[in-house]
Amino acid sequence: MTVPSAAECNLPMTNNEVNTDNALDRYLTITAIPGRSGDEAAVAAKIVEILREAGVPDSQIEFDGAETRTRLDGNCGNLIVSLPGNGKGSRTLLSAHMDTVPICVGSQPVVQGDEVHSSAPTGLGADDRAGCGAILTAIVERLKQGDENFPPAVISFLVQEEIGLEGARNLDIAKVGQVDRAFNFDGGTVEKLTIGAIGGERMAITVTGIPAHAGVAPQEGASAIVMASRAIVDLDARGWLGKVQQGDQAGTSNVGVFQGGEATNVITPEVNLRAEARSHSAEMRTRIVSEIRQAFERAAAEVTNHKGAALSLIHI
Ligand SMILES: [Zn+2]
Repeated sequence: MTVPSAAECNLPMTNNEVNTDNALDRYLTITAIPGRSGDEAAVAAKIVEILREAGVPDSQIEFDGAETRTRLDGNCGNLIVSLPGNGKGSRTLLSAHMDTVPICVGSQPVVQGDEVHSSAPTGLGADDRAGCGAILTAIVERLKQGDENFPPAVISFLVQEEIGLEGARNLDIAKVGQVDRAFNFDGGTVEKLTIGAIGGERMAITVTGIPAHAGVAPQEGASAIVMASRAIVDLDARGWLGKVQQGDQAGTSNVGVFQGGEATNVITPEVNLRAEARSHSAEMRTRIVSEIRQAFERAAAEVTNHKGAALSLIHI
């Protein structure tokens, strides 16, 4: 894939060289601040301080209160910064996340040759303070030189990414406003540009049958293994497993984990499965999940003991 040049992106070319010493200092400063998911307030405070120093007025800096909507009670919301620029061209969103994984708390970043390491026995936490640092440098270097000849931009410094994109999921998009394009800086090499990703659903399925002694009274039992196996055979036979093509919609699905049973002389009362469904189409993903659920429910209802009892609880 060819990455478009700045000119092709309609970005004004600049003669300003980035001061790499300052960029590195900025990165080291924010990387040294502890900030696991839900505890990003100190990181955000430092970013705000750097932005203010560069001349960004408080009226263009706000928090969106996402920490009140996330599953984890955090001490900080997403930090949203609006930059009017020259008011011309595509409004651009830049984002990076402020939190790190717990092993990076206490990082003491030091420069060793061409690399940065933590001198403490921790992870460095470059993910994603490097993204925050890159965006900050882009802003600060331009504004400090009085250069506002760039398209309007909005920045979101996100919280709680590492625990499941909680900050992004709960971003107050009204505060972000309309954007024409968006770039997220996180992970990977600088040459790698991800422009799309397939959506996926993962399921944990528990099938509960009726236990019985397999040698003495097997008719009293209803096997969870039989229930789950029938469901899988049914899904496979009807084209809902593996490569799924139904009408003009495509996707994939898989039952990848099948666990249960402890002895050959017991009608197995429970099995646990893990499955997934993928498709570019959210509607198709929902359909695949629904077919999987229905197949398990049907199979569980069909497998009964000799009294017709089917104590089959399907939990997906
Ligand atoms: Zn990251």
